[in-house]
Amino acid sequence: MITSHDDLCFSVFLAMPIGRPSRASSIVPTRVLILGAGFGGLELSTRLAETLGEDVHVTLIDKSDAFVFGFSKLDVMFGRQTADGVRLHYREIARPNVDFLQETVRSIDAVNKRVVTDQGTHDGDFLVVALGADLDVGATPGFAEGGHEFYSPEGANGLRDVLAGFEQGNIVIAVLGGFFKCPPAPYEMAFMLHDLLTRRGVRDACTITLITPMGKPIPVSDEVSSAILALCEERNIAHSHATWVDRLDPQEKVAHLRDGQEVPFDLFLGVPVHRAPSVVVDSGLTDDGWIAVDPATLATKFPDVYAVGDVTSAPVPRAGVIAEGEARTVADVLIAQLTGGPKPPPFAGEVVCYIEMGDSVIGRVNVNFLSGPAPVAEFIPPSLDGANDKRQFAATRRRRWFGLD
Ligand SMILES: Cc1cc2nc3c(=O)[nH]c(=O)nc-3n(C[C@H](O)[C@H](O)[C@H](O)COP(=O)(O)OP(=O)(O)OC[C@H]3O[C@@H](n4cnc5c(N)ncnc54)[C@H](O)[C@@H]3O)c2cc1C
Repeated sequence: MITSHDDLCFSVFLAMPIGRPSRASSIVPTRVLILGAGFGGLELSTRLAETLGEDVHVTLIDKSDAFVFGFSKLDVMFGRQTADGVRLHYREIARPNVDFLQETVRSIDAVNKRVVTDQGTHDGDFLVVALGADLDVGATPGFAEGGHEFYSPEGANGLRDVLAGFEQGNIVIAVLGGFFKCPPAPYEMAFMLHDLLTRRGVRDACTITLITPMGKPIPVSDEVSSAILALCEERNIAHSHATWVDRLDPQEKVAHLRDGQEVPFDLFLGVPVHRAPSVVVDSGLTDDGWIAVDPATLATKFPDVYAVGDVTSAPVPRAGVIAEGEARTVADVLIAQLTGGPKPPPFAGEVVCYIEMGDSVIGRVNVNFLSGPAPVAEFIPPSLDGANDKRQFAATRRRRWFGLD
């Protein structure tokens, strides 16, 4: 018996083929064009391919030949892994209904769902933009000349020898923009640096100061923020919140803050200003610099065009686990639309964030951003269990996305 609109849609669509009709009126797979093979693009392509089988054809485009977990940059910086060792090559993706193309997106026509790359033109029935955020080192005067960024694979690799050889002086870790990925990463940098310098016996010859425009480490939770700040204090890591570094003087080695303070440094480690890739801005998809989406479905203002991850202005932090959760929601929205299934639940914004503490232990923050009346967060203190959990997290994705053990 049909009891609701959803049931009605479901029963009607069950009788219909999933693919789209071709000119010759046989059925061809629905074409989903995914731009960016990061956390969002990889999860979306996997979920669509495994659920819809031959009824879908996914074209996954990325300019790079390999994926690197954001957190692997910490492993590279602190000498736990090599830059080559953390690369997961896209050539390992082996699903018959997914084509990976190593191409650079040059323009996006969101009305016609048509994309031009450095190699050709691609059309989709659905288009999903998952191009992440670009790092704008030049946005902070003096940063390129006087500091080091640690958010790109190249930046992390370049810092490996610098950190290993640092003997004494003032280290400043600073967040240079208000909107940045992985809010715990600057704290992880400070904790791991403290651990490295302690193990090398030079911690007393160094100061570590963290400067960030965020009012507190985890804005949605005073309790979790206090726990993280207590861990900073135990380790003698100075912190200055709700303040901005406006520019560096590379000759004098001084960071100038918006409130007039001057902070001397011997080593400046910065999180650069983030921006949506210019190809996205030029496409007309952005409002206020990022792609606005319906937080429940991740739909953009263009029909059949979705966006996930760091490139959006969804009311959640920028993180891989968020991009992945959003991708699962988009997959479920498309699957429901194509199969006539019931509308999936809205994106819940429920995630686990790991915080590296050095000394082989990892803390966890469980956050639920969107399901309740207000976000809630819980801090699980650093432990070896946390480290094991994070290893499992990475192993699951390596297996699921790349078929690697
Ligand atoms: C040091 C550090 C630690 C982190 N730790 C964590 C953590 O512990 N947990 C967590 O959840 N998140 C963490 N993150 C954040 C996480 O890495 C990002 O939030 C996540 O990668 C965002 O996923 P995405 O799919 O939106 O974009 P991305 O993963 O950045 O993917 C975007 C893709 O688009 C491609 N691309 C961009 N422009 C073009 C173009 N013009 N043409 C073709 N391809 C293009 C890029 O090559 C890239 O592969 C960390 C980040 C950093 C820097």
